[in-house]
Amino acid sequence: MDLYEYEAKQIFGEYGVALVEGEIADTPERVESVAGRLGRKVVVKAQVKVGGRGKAGGVKVAEGPEDARARAEEILGMDIKGHTVHRVLVEEASDIAEEYYFSFLLDRANREFLSICSARGGMEIEEVAETDPDAVVRTPVGPEGVDRDDALGICVAAGLPEEVRERAATVITALWDVAVGEDATLVEVNPLVRTADDRIVALDGKVTLDDNAAFRHPERTPFANGTGTDERELRARERGLNYVRLDGEVGIIGNGAGLVMSTLDVVAYAGEDHGGVRPANFLDIGGGASAEVMANGLDIILGDPAVRSVFVNVFGGITACDAVANGIVQALELLESRGEDVSKPLVVRLDGNNAEQGRQILTARAHPAVRQVDTMDGAAALAASLAAEPAGQR
Ligand code: ADP
Ligand code: MG
Repeated sequence: MDLYEYEAKQIFGEYGVALVEGEIADTPERVESVAGRLGRKVVVKAQVKVGGRGKAGGVKVAEGPEDARARAEEILGMDIKGHTVHRVLVEEASDIAEEYYFSFLLDRANREFLSICSARGGMEIEEVAETDPDAVVRTPVGPEGVDRDDALGICVAAGLPEEVRERAATVITALWDVAVGEDATLVEVNPLVRTADDRIVALDGKVTLDDNAAFRHPERTPFANGTGTDERELRARERGLNYVRLDGEVGIIGNGAGLVMSTLDVVAYAGEDHGGVRPANFLDIGGGASAEVMANGLDIILGDPAVRSVFVNVFGGITACDAVANGIVQALELLESRGEDVSKPLVVRLDGNNAEQGRQILTARAHPAVRQVDTMDGAAALAASLAAEPAGQR
């Protein structure tokens, strides 16, 4: 489970990581009053579970309470990579002298944690990692974990200025305690800053908790409830769907987890030739792809503003393709009768048991949104190219 920045910072605070004062708010009025209470220059920060909020215009400096209110009006309701901003963190603005990057990341392939540190943190870290990989220092964490000397060693290796190393090491050991104590698979601070008045503070925070260890942390369950999870995922869960939201543009529906996983791969691959579009979700409708399950799945996916095309990939087994095709037809009728928009292109590939009958059902219905392709690669390419087209031309 990914946490919001303010949730990550709540945990950081409990472990003694230096932070600036801030508070969460969900209306421009509340933002104004929080800014008034903080009583100085503030930053208004969109709370969504995606990176790059700064570049997307979701992090703005405000000169005072009224300005903070105006910035909040801009940011609340904003869409950042398909995530709507419902809340903002209003935080004391820091006068930044230097920005560093630090993270602990579980490296599953090598069954160990990696620490990643750079003296050139901030919003351009990905670019730094690409153009000057030596500026980003990766150090495996041994089985004994990270003590003060290890942390200092990381600071030296990453070239952090000598005067800040002791304090940065304090932050790093605290972040290691977070990783271990909370069963986190990622603990990231970018930027860790040195302020103009020479304080070291974590200005951003990203934490991913290991869901398999959730039972050990009942105190963190509020993070998973309601506000902590993507709304679409919550609705899907209520309807018993196996759905995970991703950050791309091509909606995916398939039957069977393995088929859906490989569908994600072929769409990601096809997307490389079509403007870099990517899968928008994982959705496995399982063996019994009834009209209702199909309608629920299509409803969740078509209603996602980030989705520009949908790929329905079905391999008929016990539930044969003709039943699935009927399910698709009925699902579209159901959604139309509810007044939902079903104009986004739907690329359907049916294979396996009764595939031919299924195709005929869809051909006979001739729904304007539906296009059939018989191969998985061909369907993935079409879905990707449709997602890459400007809306009017689809
Ligand atoms: P993201 O990583 O999603 O872009 P950040 O929280 O890192 O969001 O904010 C983006 C940038 O905004 C940071 O790199 C930093 O330069 C600046 N920033 C963030 N918080 C503050 C703050 N409290 N005071 C001053 N600048 C900030
Ligand atoms: Mg950041």
